[in-house]
Amino acid sequence: MPDSQAPQIVTTQPHDDDKFHEECGVFGIWKATDAAALTALGLHALQHRGQEAAGIVTLDDAGIFHAHKGQGLVGDIFSDAKVMASLRGTAAMGHNRYATTGETALRNVQPLYADFAFGGFAVAHNGNLTNATQLHRNLVQRGCLFQSTTDSEVFVHLIAISLYSTVVDRLIDALRQVQGAYSLVALHNGALLGARDPLGVRPLVLGRLGGEGGGQPAWVLTSETCALDIVGADFVRDIDPGEIIVIDDQGVHSIKPFGKIQDRFCIFEYIYFARPDSVVEGTPVYATRKRIGLELARESGVDADVVVPVPDSGVPAAMGYATESGIHFELGIIRNHYVGRTFIEPTDQIRHLGVKLKHSANRAIIAGKRVILVDDSIVRGTTSRKIVEMVRAAGAREVHMRISSPPTTHSCYYGIDTPERSKLMAACHDISEMARIIGVDSLAFISLDGLYRALGKPGRDPARPSYCDACFTGDYAIPLTDTHDSSDRQLSLLQAG
Ligand code: SF4
Repeated sequence: MPDSQAPQIVTTQPHDDDKFHEECGVFGIWKATDAAALTALGLHALQHRGQEAAGIVTLDDAGIFHAHKGQGLVGDIFSDAKVMASLRGTAAMGHNRYATTGETALRNVQPLYADFAFGGFAVAHNGNLTNATQLHRNLVQRGCLFQSTTDSEVFVHLIAISLYSTVVDRLIDALRQVQGAYSLVALHNGALLGARDPLGVRPLVLGRLGGEGGGQPAWVLTSETCALDIVGADFVRDIDPGEIIVIDDQGVHSIKPFGKIQDRFCIFEYIYFARPDSVVEGTPVYATRKRIGLELARESGVDADVVVPVPDSGVPAAMGYATESGIHFELGIIRNHYVGRTFIEPTDQIRHLGVKLKHSANRAIIAGKRVILVDDSIVRGTTSRKIVEMVRAAGAREVHMRISSPPTTHSCYYGIDTPERSKLMAACHDISEMARIIGVDSLAFISLDGLYRALGKPGRDPARPSYCDACFTGDYAIPLTDTHDSSDRQLSLLQAG
């Protein structure tokens, strides 16, 4: 068989669906029977934040740590009863990982564990340190031996070499030296720890499980409220930007070593990353996405017959758009939920069908109609172009595309997997060129002010923006130390968590 005819295994995830990707989810619990099982459930609810690998570390009542990690989905890694039985203890923490490069070795799967003079210590984080390469170089010069290429290990070494005596003081010492966007969960013999970066870019919430009638509750730290819901925990509050949480047998303690700094939560969590049933920073994500669709319709209405979401993430915004415009909402594109991680394509001829593995046009809804397609973002534009081709092939008379985010003109350095800037369609083309390349009759994005209005703000205050919106504005609130250090670019080995 000639090479071009050889069956090829094509990865359908994660890089080829033309989206920004969250890179990790974290979950920690203190203290509950079945702590490992509850952590596996929590990680399962956070699967959308990382599908490459997952790990759980538990701590038993004798002070012994147990760990299991694997590559793949949570349900596969933690389905074995023997594995779950081995994860003994009433305290646990876990992590879902989304790898940003081909480096998916098991040694990079979090939580990372280390034995210190003060005992065992496990740590995992969601986010990205923007000075990790610089810190890594300094730590190596001081004799630290790195076992992985994840920047979580930077935390481990900074804590190891700190001259402070308590674990919490060592953690504060480490956090003072790192720059970046992170939510961190750690476990040691005396406590479950949590920390959020000083600008609160990445999410972290506190929940409470049980404890009614005077019993001891279990406490949960996790990335999103959907992970509280699955284990039956009540949402208590968001961890504040720059706050460190210490949970021990006496309860929950808060430390704020960095003083008051303005909140710059990632605005893209509302648009796409968070699960629609989560409540983020006090705001339900589903309702917010509908409001964004409403604003979008106000800003860029067009005469048409039907509003069609690009599923699944475009659905709530399309509902809002339809409500405001009075145009029918219809499922004109059907998503195949059973596309696996890889797909064997037998011939060159069908290798180009790509997008049809995941989406197909509902001809009965689309044929002869003027269609408004609503999607949450355009990154490279490749998927948008294929979807428009598919909708036209199904007989659409006109295709108008409406996007529930502003144009993504800049890369994210704060823990979201994005292509380099030159690959972002909106960084290289104006909107009319994008419309021509994608093949639509018209294209419009929600404005930045419209997005802020949908979030209950009067608009974006350029002097004091309420959110991180750097991928739309280039206004990077956290220094990009490694990126600006050209010598480090060559050495950029470290990966987001
Ligand atoms: Fe979120 Fe964009 Fe900021 Fe990255 S740059 S944290 S994706 S808003």
